[in-house]
Amino acid sequence: MDWEWELFQQLDLFSRNKVSRKAKGLSSVPVVVERKPYFRHFRMMVKPSGHLVVTVGRRIGQPEIEKFLAQNKDWVEAGTAEVAKIREAHPQVRFENGELIPMLGREYRLVYVPRTAKRAKVYLREQQIFVETDDMESQDSRVQRIKNFYEQKGRSLLSSRVEIFSEKMQLYPSQLSFRSQKTRWGSCNSKGHISLNWRLVAYPLLIADYVVIHELAHLKHQDHSKRFWKLVEVYSPEYKVHKQYLREHQFQVDFLAKQPELYTNIEPDFIWTY
Ligand SMILES: [Zn+2]
Repeated sequence: MDWEWELFQQLDLFSRNKVSRKAKGLSSVPVVVERKPYFRHFRMMVKPSGHLVVTVGRRIGQPEIEKFLAQNKDWVEAGTAEVAKIREAHPQVRFENGELIPMLGREYRLVYVPRTAKRAKVYLREQQIFVETDDMESQDSRVQRIKNFYEQKGRSLLSSRVEIFSEKMQLYPSQLSFRSQKTRWGSCNSKGHISLNWRLVAYPLLIADYVVIHELAHLKHQDHSKRFWKLVEVYSPEYKVHKQYLREHQFQVDFLAKQPELYTNIEPDFIWTY
């Protein structure tokens, strides 16, 4: 489910074909270099942030890396174009006053209001998320409190959905916990311990329900067999659509992540212009 664009190649620095001289800068891409001792390959990955991460051996310098990039210019171009599309579809959430942010598949307006008590609150009212704050508070702190609010909402929503579907399916987890994994929406181990991603709260309820039903079904079938999917289908008849939705919208809840993938401020080692 993880999104990545990866190229893995045998290191060939002694190749005879001379790379043509760099054309005057038309495109540029930020490059992050990871050096591993004894690494004998070139690996590149375009990250959702638009960074090109290049993994090479310890002794490989920037000129060799640039030569390699030039040899694989088409690949770089295709990968960065793909990322640009994803980023266009998901503009950066800046947590600004008046901005719309999703919860349960609906758009909620973020409204900053003066704090009324010592402890600044965050609360919902008529499809708006009110955040009490003042000029003294940093934006980072506000963003953190909004994320905490989502987490709290996610935990209580998912707990109640698990209760509802446990009754319906007559399947009860031995333990329920919450996480915020990058690309995992839920898991269920052999001890009957279910873990759910609280960021599901930003998606429509049907989607969160599908994940709940999926994990509860694992209490009966520990695999993804036909029998498993048959059971899922009883409670989530449109599960195929929901599965697809999650795949296509994985970056929609990236803004709630501790370390968002789409909009990061990683300092590149150099900018490659071609
Ligand atoms: Zn599963």
